Amino acid sequence: MVKAPSSMCPSPQGSSPVFSSSLTCNYCKNPGHIKANCYRLVGFPAGYFDRPRPQDNKPKGKAAVTKPDHTNFAGPPHQGNNRQGLSEGSTISSGLHLRGKVAIVTGAASGIGAVTARHFANHGSLTVVIADVQDGKGREVAASISSNRCTYVHCDVTDEHQVKYLVDSTVKLYGRLDVMYSNAGITPPSAQTVLELDLSLFDKVMAVNARGMAACVMHAARAMVEKGVRGSIVCTASVQADCGTESMTDYTLSKHAMLGLMRSASVQLVKHGVRVNCVSPGLVATPLVTEIFKLGAEELSKMMAAVYTGSQYGPVKEKDLADAVVFLASEDSALITGQNLVVDGGHETKALSLLKP
Ligand code: NAD
Repeated sequence: MVKAPSSMCPSPQGSSPVFSSSLTCNYCKNPGHIKANCYRLVGFPAGYFDRPRPQDNKPKGKAAVTKPDHTNFAGPPHQGNNRQGLSEGSTISSGLHLRGKVAIVTGAASGIGAVTARHFANHGSLTVVIADVQDGKGREVAASISSNRCTYVHCDVTDEHQVKYLVDSTVKLYGRLDVMYSNAGITPPSAQTVLELDLSLFDKVMAVNARGMAACVMHAARAMVEKGVRGSIVCTASVQADCGTESMTDYTLSKHAMLGLMRSASVQLVKHGVRVNCVSPGLVATPLVTEIFKLGAEELSKMMAAVYTGSQYGPVKEKDLADAVVFLASEDSALITGQNLVVDGGHETKALSLLKP
């Protein structure tokens, strides 16, 4: 085994980063891989791999690359709004907004995280690392994507060591981390009004939603800064991050904290080229919601229809969040940082404009 030269067409098989000089690709004629692993076949622009990459000349920190460097390539430019790749005014879009990017999604065994992990893969992510505490479901989601492009890692975000391992093992295996979607979250099992606040439940909610998110943001940011990656961190907040609520005081507080974390991190990381944003879902019919309201599927769909009465778009779905996260994770949002993108079909805005003159 030898180190692949930087002009080499890299293997898309991020999970098996092996370079062998005895192999030659029938398609691109480069040594080091076979046709089945050839990235030129999945639509990278001609000559892309021959361009000098920013980090070729800029080793950062320790930057110990333990695997052949074809796992550590910059990733091809996105062809839509890419400020480096295309002239101003170009409108070409491949749809592969996350081409070549290495992403982690926490809370991806279920609901919004699971749909977003699949969406990342469909938008060209080189690899998606799924992290959750529900191992069976997490592995199922990973298998439904592809064993070559998706792996599952058990990670309880309340344990900082597990979060560090998640990030470090991703960087070790794939050479870099481009996107952290910190999405894992829980709700309290009971009402949690101010007058009857159970502080042990409060601590559990804060441990996942606020402290866990902070650990994910911190370790992802460290990995990006150390490798000189212009990464994107996206966190799931909530429409409850911006208003008071009848109950779930701790959940509401934790989501307000999320915005403070995101805004502070965005200010501190902008000089490193790392962006930090939030998505805030309206009500989405995920297991988290069925758990809170203890509803069956039929009652749930009735409730969702009632909540979104009058909306031209119907209830918000997981895919609507996934679209927003792909946008914030990609270079389409290159100048957007420190923002909270509310995805609720205008529901919250309507509530704020109830007073008519
Ligand atoms: P979900 O319950 O389907 O998914 C949450 C996932 O997080 C689950 O897979 C769960 O196992 C995982 N998780 C919980 N604790 C964890 C921990 N300690 N470590 C790692 N993973 C953990 O719910 P969802 O609706 O998809 O929720 C995703 C995010 O969206 C949450 O942050 C939630 O607060 C937020 N959100 C949801 C709604 C909604 O209406 N569904 C609205 C606003 C915000």
